[in-house]
Amino acid sequence: MDVKTCIEKLGYVGVLNFATVDEDGAPQIRNISAIHYEGTDIYFLTARGKPFARQLYADGRVQIAAYTRYKETIRVSGRAVEVPEDEQIKWRDILYREQPYLENVYPGETKNIDTIFVIKDYTIEYFCLSTRPITREYFAVGNAVMKPKGYRITDACIGCGKCVRVCPQEAIDKGKPYAIRQNNCLHCGNCFENCPVQAIEQL
Ligand code: SF4
Ligand code: SF4
Repeated sequence: MDVKTCIEKLGYVGVLNFATVDEDGAPQIRNISAIHYEGTDIYFLTARGKPFARQLYADGRVQIAAYTRYKETIRVSGRAVEVPEDEQIKWRDILYREQPYLENVYPGETKNIDTIFVIKDYTIEYFCLSTRPITREYFAVGNAVMKPKGYRITDACIGCGKCVRVCPQEAIDKGKPYAIRQNNCLHCGNCFENCPVQAIEQL
């Protein structure tokens, strides 16, 4: 897997879930299909008066989730910024060309309420449940910084092997200490709950 393929898969899925948080800290999610991919940049359209736009103006953080027919999750986490005024029409025209239904939603001059945002710096979490063991990969695009997730076995490990026996994906290798193969880990926490000496820590 790589960034380019993840972007292509997002395009094939088409309609993506975009999540933000509102002014009360509550999650808000909506389906967006007015999306244009330019290299690794992700452009999308909304209307300035929508709560979605207000949440992006206030905070900018956005998470996008897609699920393919091959049981792949692609999660994009980044910060959306409004495209500069002098570029708005260019990107809006591209989005309307690629998504003709938009003309039905915002006919004529009413499309002036639209605004375009772009996400340039983001991380991608790719997670595939149709392989055995499962596959997990991470990518950072632009200036985004990856935050580690999951579990790690520390030097407190006494080598009892219990974590290996309880891991549903056989994602733990023997050693001193034992080690989790991060690309095959579900993040289920079963090893963490069953280690007799609490040698496994959450990242
Ligand atoms: S269960 Fe804990 S102590 Fe035992 S091998 Fe796994 S990490 Fe090490
Ligand atoms: S978190 Fe779950 S999948 Fe990952 S190593 Fe532990 S038991 Fe295995």
